[in-house]
Amino acid sequence: MSGNQARLMAISDIVNRQPLAVETPESLKDIWATDVFNLATMEEMLSKKAFKAIKKTVQTGAALDAATADVVAAAMKDWAISKGVKFFSHIFYPMTNATAEKHDGFIVTNPDGNAITEFTGSLLIKGEPDGSSFPNGSLRMTNAARGYTAWDPTSPAYVMQTDNGATLMIPSVFMSWTGEALDKKIPLLRSNAAMNEAAQKVLSLMGETEIATLNSSCGAEQEYFLVDAGLAAARPDLLLAGRSLFGAPPAKGQEFDDHYFGAIPERVQVFMQDFEDRLYRLGIPAKTHHNEVAPGQFEIAPYFEAANVASDHQQLLMTLMKQTAKKHGFLCLLHEKPFAGVNGSGKHVNWSVGNSTQGNLLDPGDTPNKNLNFLLFCGAVIRGVHLYGPLLRAVIASAANDHRLGANEAPPAILSVYLGDQLEKLFMDIKEGAIGETASGGLMDIGLDQILSFERDPGDRNRTSPFAFTGNRFEFRAVGSSQSVSGPLVAMNTVLADSLNWIAGKLETALESGDKADAVVIVLKELMELHGNVVFGGDGYSSEWHTMAVEERGLKNIPTTADALPALQDPAVIELFESTGVLTPVELASRFEVYAEQYVLSIEVEAKLVVDLGKTRIYPAAMSYLSSLTETFSGMAGLSVSMDTSLATTVGENINGLLASIGKLEEALAKHDFESPNEHICFCADTLCPLMLEVRGFADTLETLVADELWPLPKYSEMLFLR
Ligand code: ADP
Ligand code: MG
Repeated sequence: MSGNQARLMAISDIVNRQPLAVETPESLKDIWATDVFNLATMEEMLSKKAFKAIKKTVQTGAALDAATADVVAAAMKDWAISKGVKFFSHIFYPMTNATAEKHDGFIVTNPDGNAITEFTGSLLIKGEPDGSSFPNGSLRMTNAARGYTAWDPTSPAYVMQTDNGATLMIPSVFMSWTGEALDKKIPLLRSNAAMNEAAQKVLSLMGETEIATLNSSCGAEQEYFLVDAGLAAARPDLLLAGRSLFGAPPAKGQEFDDHYFGAIPERVQVFMQDFEDRLYRLGIPAKTHHNEVAPGQFEIAPYFEAANVASDHQQLLMTLMKQTAKKHGFLCLLHEKPFAGVNGSGKHVNWSVGNSTQGNLLDPGDTPNKNLNFLLFCGAVIRGVHLYGPLLRAVIASAANDHRLGANEAPPAILSVYLGDQLEKLFMDIKEGAIGETASGGLMDIGLDQILSFERDPGDRNRTSPFAFTGNRFEFRAVGSSQSVSGPLVAMNTVLADSLNWIAGKLETALESGDKADAVVIVLKELMELHGNVVFGGDGYSSEWHTMAVEERGLKNIPTTADALPALQDPAVIELFESTGVLTPVELASRFEVYAEQYVLSIEVEAKLVVDLGKTRIYPAAMSYLSSLTETFSGMAGLSVSMDTSLATTVGENINGLLASIGKLEEALAKHDFESPNEHICFCADTLCPLMLEVRGFADTLETLVADELWPLPKYSEMLFLR
């Protein structure tokens, strides 16, 4: 089937598509967490003693003894087999943002040839996949392949169902034989521990006597696009690169603002409900869903959970979303910028820290000016974002996310903190040496008696800020939709730990003079003098802010991944991770290498696709149009009217431009002699990306000239509006 036939058939198919019928929906109570080996299941299946031990590990991270692990393994196997499971898998999270799994059978055969099932504590605790094929950033030589996965009891095991079987999935960490972290979970667990240790110090200096283990929480809002699968099949760029590398802007985009929170199309609604039922079975608390800003764009946000569990659930959610979309005849795009010119997709990471004794330490309560613990923790975040802004930019850096950040779209590539009116004023007062009074938001009055009045929030929201306080948490809004939330969480926990350690040191001295409130003001005044510049409540998209941030506030504007990743090589960042015990210098260096390589690979794949599609689809379509025009013209030679050939000339010029720019891109792609990864990533950002755009310029112009019936690639209007 030729390219344009695929497009035309897909369009005619869509007209007849029906929402996929799903089985009668079951009630939440009947499906909630039925496929999860959680504490409730364990309480039913384990002895009191074993349950107490595992519960302590889950809730506080305390060590688990081997005997209990054996008991848990046996119960886990029985539970899984009762659900039809024959295989188990340690599931882990390599540095690529992906999820990896190696499946093993429960089966063993005995000398009589009978098959029995076996699963011991040691099989549960440790798996051994070949580590050499995962990116390790020079942590392992190619011949040194041994890697281990190890059970993380703090994230519940679950059963992954397919239409034809089920597998027991065991969330795991992944390390090299030499004990270095090769994954995204180990640093997250370590960053939690570092944050807990530092927070304990501050809280006990503040006179708290009973302090439970602190944990970080995460609620992630996932944005995504759905494109009809038939149309997507005719777009190799969507299939291989996750975004459109070509496409002229449609006559109508998102300018009417009529999609955001609009009525959800029925086929999409049916997909969402099917998908959410699968999430519920796996204990993932899907909470909100709605249309997003761009046509064809949607969002799902589960309720927040402990960061480690939320991070595992996020990975699972992305996997299930793609699978379920396929079933419903959609391609689910998690790419940060699938379509130029319309909104991209982010993943706001809502983050807070707390415990069962002091509660959420980022909750100001009704009187933040009297909530000293809150002020210290919030101040610690301000310091962390100011000191380590470039690190926070680095952990969200990817070729894809660069299209959202930087110049093109918000949130901006300058890291600042939004506090809201009330808190901003409070912290600015503290900078002057005093804690002022705080006003509440007051009652909402719109002059209609029948509408019940309610308490207004003390501050508005600011959607232009990359890092915003939203009432009882911070929302890191610059995270990309396809990214693992682990990197951002690790960075936030670690900078918080560092700042709390700094605060603890200062507080100790300040407390010698006596009064707690005075001591807090002394410490936070110094903190605000040093770091208050990062607080910004205005319009983060404006050009004034871009100038002011850099020239007056000394903040960095870091538009591309090539500019951002070197922050991981900054001595202060190396020291940050080493002193908090989150990553050794070698582990951190390996991350720079892996991320740099990922960046290079994704841009090279795109560049190759641009060359390929340019030559094999766009050029032939444009040429056949041009030749049909010229043939027609020559067939008209006998007519007395002289035809206007200017359009044909423009087509010809753009074809020549297309070929010339493809030639330049091919030449650039052939360059391989780079001295360092740093040089290579800059080459991608400075040379390959602009050349791809040059090719696209000609191709998109051709799309607006060539006869529609000949055009091989589904158009923006079709992909965004047909479903
Ligand atoms: P919005 O789109 O208004 O930002 P949503 O309701 O879509 O808000 O998403 C907010 C997310 O923040 C949800 O996942 C929610 O559970 C989460 N959240 C709420 N409170 C906290 C908290 N204290 N810590 C972390 N996440 C939180
Ligand atoms: Mg949000």
